[in-house]
Amino acid sequence: MEEINLLGKIIIRGKIKAETGLAIGSGGGKMEIGGVDNPVIKDAFGKPYIPGSSLKGKMRSLLEKASGKKPNVSLGKARIHICENKEEYQKCIVCKIFGLPGEKDFSEPTRLIVRDAFLIEDSITDEMRKNMDFKYTEVKSENVIDRITSAANPRQMERVPAGAEFDFEMIYNVFSEEDKNNLKDVFKGMELLEHDYLGSSGSRGYGKVRFEGIKVYWCSKEDYEKGKIEEKKEINAELQTPNKIVEKFEEIRKNIS
Ligand SMILES: [Zn+2]
Repeated sequence: MEEINLLGKIIIRGKIKAETGLAIGSGGGKMEIGGVDNPVIKDAFGKPYIPGSSLKGKMRSLLEKASGKKPNVSLGKARIHICENKEEYQKCIVCKIFGLPGEKDFSEPTRLIVRDAFLIEDSITDEMRKNMDFKYTEVKSENVIDRITSAANPRQMERVPAGAEFDFEMIYNVFSEEDKNNLKDVFKGMELLEHDYLGSSGSRGYGKVRFEGIKVYWCSKEDYEKGKIEEKKEINAELQTPNKIVEKFEEIRKNIS
C-alpha cells in the first residue's frame, strides 16, 4: 500500500433545517412511558439530534445510486456498495469518501467524518411549542394498513417539528490532489439529500431537510504545524448552500492549496 500523507482537512459547518417533521428513531421501536410507539432519538439532555451515522449513511446511499454502484454488502438493515478490488476502488468516489471496511487489503483512511448534529434550541419557538406534545417534539397518530391482513394498525409517531434546526459539522481529510477535487461530491451528496429525506416515513412527507449557512474552512498541514488553525479562513465566501457550492465549486477548489 502506498504511503498516505495528510495534506490538510476541510471543515464544513452549517445548519440543517427540518422543512417537514423529522422522525429519526432511536431503534428498537419499544414502548416508552408516554405511549409513543416510535420515539425520536435524543441526547443525554433529552434533546433530539441527528446521528452523524444517519446523515453519512443516507448521503452514501444516495451517491451510490447517483453513480450507478450496486449494493453488494449487508450492513445492519441496509445494503451498501463496497468495492471488491483495488482497481475498482481507485475509480470509486463513494468508497474513497465514505470508507471501506478495515479488512480490505487496499483500504485507505476514510475521508469523511460526520459528527452528530445537535438541536439549536432557539429554533423551537414559543409559537411552535403551542402545537407540540413534548418540549422538543410532537406526536402524530397514524393509521398504517397492514399489507397482508388489511387491518388498520394505529400507531403514534414522535417527530421533531418542521422549522427545527440543527448544527452540523463534517470533516473531510485530504490525502491527495484528487481528494481536493472529490470534495465536490460531498456537496453533491448534500444536494441529493435535500431532494430525498432523512429518517422514516419519507413517503408520507417526513424528513425534508435543507442545508443553510454553510461555511467551509481549509486547514493545511502547515497550519497545524504552525498552530494556526484558530485563524482558519472561510474558503466558500457567499456560496452557502450545496447547490451554489456545486455550481461554483472551482471558486472553492482554487482556495485549497
Ligand atoms: Zn466503491
